[in-house]
Amino acid sequence: MDRILNGKEASKKVKERVKKEVEILKEKKIEVCLAVILVGKDKASAIYVKNKQKACEETGIISKTIELDENIKEKELLDIIDNLNKDKKVNGILVQLPLPQQIDEKKVIDRIDDLKDVDCFNVKNIGKLVVGENCFLPCTPAGIIELLEQKKIDIKGKHCVIVGRSNIVGKPLAFLMLQKDATVSICHSKTSNLEFFTKSADILVAAVGKENFITKDMVKKGAIIIDVGINRNKEGKICGDVKFDEVFEVAEFITPVPGGVGPMTIATLLKNTVFAAKIQNKL
Ligand code: NDP
Repeated sequence: MDRILNGKEASKKVKERVKKEVEILKEKKIEVCLAVILVGKDKASAIYVKNKQKACEETGIISKTIELDENIKEKELLDIIDNLNKDKKVNGILVQLPLPQQIDEKKVIDRIDDLKDVDCFNVKNIGKLVVGENCFLPCTPAGIIELLEQKKIDIKGKHCVIVGRSNIVGKPLAFLMLQKDATVSICHSKTSNLEFFTKSADILVAAVGKENFITKDMVKKGAIIIDVGINRNKEGKICGDVKFDEVFEVAEFITPVPGGVGPMTIATLLKNTVFAAKIQNKL
């Protein structure tokens, strides 16, 4: 079991730190508040939002959920964001993705004040991340780094191979890994000879969104395996992108799904929200 990178346990440690910081801010009469916008009735999104609310409650962060009709017009949503940007009592703003088709996601994300963009999705914060001036941490990527660091796994000089190049996982993770002195390869659906890359990985990150995508024969013995994927199998159970049982045999460390990267993503969100409250109050 020692070879399992347990995100539930690691996230508890982060939450304890966050809780202490929230208490210190309360003593200074600062109440930390996260506003979460949920558009429509997507079941998975509703679960994610609930988990975020619960984590806020556990750490003393006020969570304000704004539930909106799936037919909402883009302009109305942008107006709501403008109001939250102006609201001094709101430190962090998060819009749960995906959004309905009539809404331009990029426009919405970039409308969030960059000092309240606790998901670290907007173009200014991504730019800061690329040049190493990041203030907010991209939640899933930074959660992965925290998980590795808590286990004292050295990243420096390692070959980190990331399968998946999304703006929320693959690309920002590549930049964080570079900041930590890893050598990084990013693979995607057009990569030829994917196995060549995955087999050379010291740290292999799967962020694809396909069940059983990474198998034992694609992995080097002793590699560290990070499974970001959240999929549902035929039985309706949550599973990752990695064929866990067989890859576990060869990996040095591996994250489970659920209970691996997911809790770390939320923990980083809480950290970012506290950080937002601090910078907005010039602390
Ligand atoms: P996207 O769908 O945006 O990206 C998937 C990536 O996988 C793309 O870059 C795509 O390549 C690549 N890909 C697809 N098929 C292949 C293939 N056959 N070979 C190589 N690469 C392939 O996904 P996200 O990054 O948003 O999410 C990935 C997974 O992680 C999902 O299951 C999601 O639910 C989960 N997730 C989990 C989080 C957590 O906290 N645990 C947080 C965020 C996401 P291309 O670009 O060429 O299309």
